[in-house]
Amino acid sequence: MAEYLGAQVIVPPNDPAHREYLEEAAHGRLSVQRCGNCRHLRYPVRTACPECRSFEYEWQPLTGKGTVYSYYVVPHPINPAFREVVPYVVALIELDEARDTPQPGRALRVVANIVREDGQSENADRVAIGQRVDVTFVHLGDGWALPQFRLSDESPEHETWQIPTRGPAPA
Ligand SMILES: [Zn+2]
Repeated sequence: MAEYLGAQVIVPPNDPAHREYLEEAAHGRLSVQRCGNCRHLRYPVRTACPECRSFEYEWQPLTGKGTVYSYYVVPHPINPAFREVVPYVVALIELDEARDTPQPGRALRVVANIVREDGQSENADRVAIGQRVDVTFVHLGDGWALPQFRLSDESPEHETWQIPTRGPAPA
């Protein structure tokens, strides 16, 4: 049984593309679908190309490098399985590939957690918009893995910004 943080991960057999995405990750590849017709790279995983509606696709492995585009710190567990892991970071990672494609402002942006070397959630105080990140893979069992991201040693590509934390009460 595939599971993440103690919760069962279920992807039904009639959703082969999502199963393939997790299988690619288990082989150490962050891959997205490349349209077999117009060559558009797409994420999230979906049945048809949002540009040309073709059902044809192949998996395109990417470098796994990106930048924190935005993030949120989840303060309360929305699932009992997450009781022990709050607060944790959910980030929107803009991948290096396909930036400003097919139009300015468009990009491949992946929702993921920012995790430490040991797979636990990164301390929210260390995460900021603009930071560089690298993909890492959390194995779920059953031949699946989940792409997650770790803070990179690379310098931020622009001035970083953090969600303000609550300061001292006003006098
Ligand atoms: Zn297409």
